[in-house]
Amino acid sequence: MTATLGRLSDQSAVRTRQLDDLTLTYVVDGSMAMNKEEFLASIPASYWADHPDAVTADGRVAMSCGGLLVQRGDHHVLIDAGYGPARETTPWAEINCGAMLETLAALGHTPADIDVLALTHLHVDHTGWAFITNPGQPPQQTFPNASYLVSAEELAPHEHGINPPGSSPLEQIEPLEKICTTFADAEEVAPGIVTVVTPGHSAGHTSYVVTSARGRRVVAFGDAFHIPAQLTNPGWNSAPDVDTERVLIARARITAELEQPDTIGFGFHFGDQAFGRITRDDARMPTWTPVPAAAVMPTPRPFG
Ligand SMILES: [Zn+2]
Repeated sequence: MTATLGRLSDQSAVRTRQLDDLTLTYVVDGSMAMNKEEFLASIPASYWADHPDAVTADGRVAMSCGGLLVQRGDHHVLIDAGYGPARETTPWAEINCGAMLETLAALGHTPADIDVLALTHLHVDHTGWAFITNPGQPPQQTFPNASYLVSAEELAPHEHGINPPGSSPLEQIEPLEKICTTFADAEEVAPGIVTVVTPGHSAGHTSYVVTSARGRRVVAFGDAFHIPAQLTNPGWNSAPDVDTERVLIARARITAELEQPDTIGFGFHFGDQAFGRITRDDARMPTWTPVPAAAVMPTPRPFG
């Protein structure tokens, strides 16, 4: 299958990329069209005027959601669990999601294949498929054989009864609290997968550094960045960021990770350019350069 480049202004196709012994696949759950004036209010209008390629035809920002499947032999780690079934409009976005299990099936996997569900953070568009609730029954793990992982810092506010803006509904949080395994910064939580806990976007937001057998790496950086322009302009925060000072620290650390040798990045919300690497532009500022990945399925749950 031929690796191709997508466009930033499109929702993501289901794309896969090989990294030595690792197969990395974006298991797309669906589409989110963000109102940039609400969700990215810190970004000056002049940026959008100068970058028509960064928005959809109707002036919104294409952000897909889903999970990154990291397959190494028979071992399957899923980083994040999408939004879950939803067709709705919120102040931040129009949302059309719920395809994740269909996408997984089309890729030849069942929920029982997943060994680890590693969460970047507890926002609604990252935990949606963690549990399935049928009326009159307790919530069931969608991935019945998986260890569910979340950082201790991310879980802490919820344990104190606080649900920050953008948080997952209690139907996801409460069962997660009962069964999850928590971790700290710089822990190897699965073979070749190390945590980078950087509070800022949320209380204990986590990126995962995944290393191949030959030492090549991918950094799945969750919502440390929502759009590529935030790599170049780390002061441009996103609406749900809980601590904008610590967002700056987080972004500096993730940028340094991305600039290590033999490293690519994965951004859930980077349009159809989820896989990329940091390069430096003429002004020596970090910029996102997408890398080709094979589109194995078209965009699930597109708009229109
Ligand atoms: Zn988030």
